[in-house]
Amino acid sequence: QFRALVSISNPGGPHAQSTKHGVHRGMSSVTIPPPACMLRPLEAPFRYLFGPGPSNVPPRVLAAGGRPIIGHMHSEMFGIMNDIKKGIQYAFQTSNNMTLAMSGSGHTAMECALFNIVEPGESVLVAINGIWGERVAEISERMGAKVHTLVKTPGGHFTNAEIEQALAKHKPVLFFLTHGESSAGLVHPVDGVGDICHKYNCLLLVDSVASLGAAPLLMDQQNIDILYTGSQKALNAPPGTAPISFSERACHKMFNRKAKPVSYLLDMTHLSNYWGNDGKPERTYHHTGPVSGFFALRESLAILAETGLENSWKHHTEVAEYFWKGLEDLGLKLFIKDKDLRLPSVTTIAIPEGYNWKELLAYIMKHHRIEFTGGLGPSVGMLLRIGLMGYNCNKANAAMALAALEDALKQLTNCTKK
Ligand code: PMP
Repeated sequence: QFRALVSISNPGGPHAQSTKHGVHRGMSSVTIPPPACMLRPLEAPFRYLFGPGPSNVPPRVLAAGGRPIIGHMHSEMFGIMNDIKKGIQYAFQTSNNMTLAMSGSGHTAMECALFNIVEPGESVLVAINGIWGERVAEISERMGAKVHTLVKTPGGHFTNAEIEQALAKHKPVLFFLTHGESSAGLVHPVDGVGDICHKYNCLLLVDSVASLGAAPLLMDQQNIDILYTGSQKALNAPPGTAPISFSERACHKMFNRKAKPVSYLLDMTHLSNYWGNDGKPERTYHHTGPVSGFFALRESLAILAETGLENSWKHHTEVAEYFWKGLEDLGLKLFIKDKDLRLPSVTTIAIPEGYNWKELLAYIMKHHRIEFTGGLGPSVGMLLRIGLMGYNCNKANAAMALAALEDALKQLTNCTKK
């Protein structure tokens, strides 16, 4: 039938060709040849991913992601999504029903929280002490919120008194705080912040993309209203899925909006049905979730459940302390002075005097196949970032990272400072 159609649509025209079966086919529509790169096999070299993420993925999680695809609406897939929901409730320490994973990276969860909770014209308060607050302020501004900020230089943190003062002044509907500020290497205290927010009738939104599984965080006990994370950091799944959870209070606000959220894809009315959270007997099609990504996420959450959250936190702290001591022995200066405020998953060091940070990173990648990174956003040029999280978090990798740094510092002693 296809052959008949094409030969009728182009019966012996200037571009008609005869195939070996003698059938005329119109070829005029293809003007771009197959790209040469596509005729070569995929190349994805092995690298030690010791930056702030993604981190290396354990074989068990890779294997889960490589299993045959099933339909996104099959009952077995819904069973897997139910498991993921339970795994996230454990990882977040929450009993919130409105718990799910976004189809997308950490930014998707960030936008989902803002798009659903905040209506245009409402006030939000954003704590900025690195790039993530900057991003949230920009997204809020784009969607027409009134944005108020509390600002510190990278590495700074906010006292509860400072937060309370700003809440009293601006009366926002939402306050944003980054738990693990990966651009500065800071883990922000959260105790008491939820209570202060609720005193001012404000919801607390916390970003735990870089800290979940590595530093203690207890969603329900700390009265966090919306918490999200990413798959590719301490959870060790491939990038592309992002757990998120909403408290009853947050659900009340987002399901009693005057207008629908601007994003259809991120509308929680639809997503809550897709995840079986809305109490309706049937799930209806909204979008096609990343089936392989969900398989991998389920497996990474299973590893966290088997390990135990407290063991995971303890392990990250022990390895981080071993690593910090090694860095100091090399004469390097840790960017966050107070040990209690250092993020165990992502360590930041001041760029050593007399060195060009880009040359240090390039040398380490070239000679050791190890990725470290520089600063991000407001911390560019201020620091180097080294992540040892989840599967990558062990003393052998810490020792390898230290040896690579020592070698680079020796070899590049004559670099000019930039
Ligand atoms: N928040 C924090 C603290 C992060 O570290 C990151 C990723 N580096 C993000 C948000 C954004 O996540 P993604 O790149 O997965 O969108």
